[in-house]
This record gives sequence, structure tokens and C-alpha cells, in this order.
Amino acid sequence: MFISLRQLFEARRYGVRRAVDLAQLRVRFAGQPDGGQATLAERDLAIRLRDLKTRLAAAFGDVTACAACARNCPPPAGRWTGGRCCGTATSAVFTTQEVRALKLGGARAGRLPVPSSAFAGCAFRGPTGCSLEPADRPSACLVFACDDLRAELDATLEGSAVHQLRRDLSSAFDRFLCVPSEPPHHDLCCQAEAASLGWRFGPGA
Ligand code: SF4
Ligand code: SF4
Repeated sequence: MFISLRQLFEARRYGVRRAVDLAQLRVRFAGQPDGGQATLAERDLAIRLRDLKTRLAAAFGDVTACAACARNCPPPAGRWTGGRCCGTATSAVFTTQEVRALKLGGARAGRLPVPSSAFAGCAFRGPTGCSLEPADRPSACLVFACDDLRAELDATLEGSAVHQLRRDLSSAFDRFLCVPSEPPHHDLCCQAEAASLGWRFGPGA
């Protein structure tokens, strides 16, 4: 079994669970094309997604629901008081197609800022929220709004504009999924590559 110095460093710095997620994410990025291997339509949509995510994050403003929704929840969601929906698995939000869009938009796995706080679901979740710029987050992270957040938005004047941006982002990502492209690398391929790096995945990792 081969474990790189980088993986050892990350395991010491972030803990094994987060280091495993980061290694898997890098492999998933590596399995996707960069701009030179994509169609113009794919690249245009990837840039459009980044723009919509930035605008949507700004439009959310200072919502309060997200700051305390995880209180009294079991771990990992309840590790921090807010961000309950970020108490998920990194690979569940960074799907192959989300990673494809992120990479075509310019994101690079090795440059994503990682919190050094305790691991609590997604590798980028920290006590004060997500460590990533909105444009570098999966589209699903921006589109999703639970009942409590929707209720808060519905009670504000800006709520309808936020919902419109959520619909715009969702439909742009749907178009990205349908646009003709080179055959995507499948998750299984990524996992086989990851296994060759010496990491095990799943609950026992
Ligand atoms: S969308 Fe809902 S579950 Fe997610 S952080 Fe906001 S309030 Fe919490
Ligand atoms: S990328 Fe950020 S917003 Fe998305 S699940 Fe992870 S911590 Fe939450």
C-alpha cells in the first residue's frame, strides 16, 4: 500500500477522515477534463454556473436559519450549531458531474481552502460555515433550501429574487448535464484510482 507524503501530512493536519475525503476528491477532479478537452457549450455553462453561484450566495444575505439549524442534532451534523445540511458526505455533494462543472469553471482540488477544525460531514464544513468561495461549491449546495430557510426567505422582500436565482442555477446545471461532451469518467474509475493510492473508503475508513 502506497501513501504519499501529502496524504500523511493531511492526515496529521486534518485527521484521517477529512484526509481520505480530500484524497478522493482530488482523484475525482483528476478524472474530469480541463477546459481544453471540453466543448465550448460546456465551458460557457461552467462559467455561467460560477456566476450564478456567486450572485445567489450574495442574494441570500444574512439569513439566520442556517446559523442554528443543527443545534441538538446527532453528529456529524450536530458537531456545530449551524449548517445541518453540510453534515453530509463530501462525495455526496461533490458528485462526478458537479466536479466536472467546477473543474471546467477553473476550480482545482488542490487549491480549495480546508478548515482545520474538527471533521463534521463535508470536508469543507467548519464551525462558521463553508470554507469555500460560493463559486467553488457544488451547485446543489447553493440551490438547496430546507423548509426553515424557505420560510425565512418567503417572509422577506428579497425572497422571490433568491428563489428565482435558485431556479436559474438549477436549470443551468440541468443544461450542463445535458450538453454534449466527451464521455465522463465514471465514479468507479475514480474509486479504482483512489484505491491504487492506498486509501480505503466508506464508514470503516
Ligand atoms: S439550508 Fe436548512 S439545513 Fe441547510 S444550513 Fe440552512 S437552515 Fe440549515
Ligand atoms: S461544499 Fe460547503 S456548502 Fe457544500 S456541503 Fe460542503 S461545507 Fe456545505
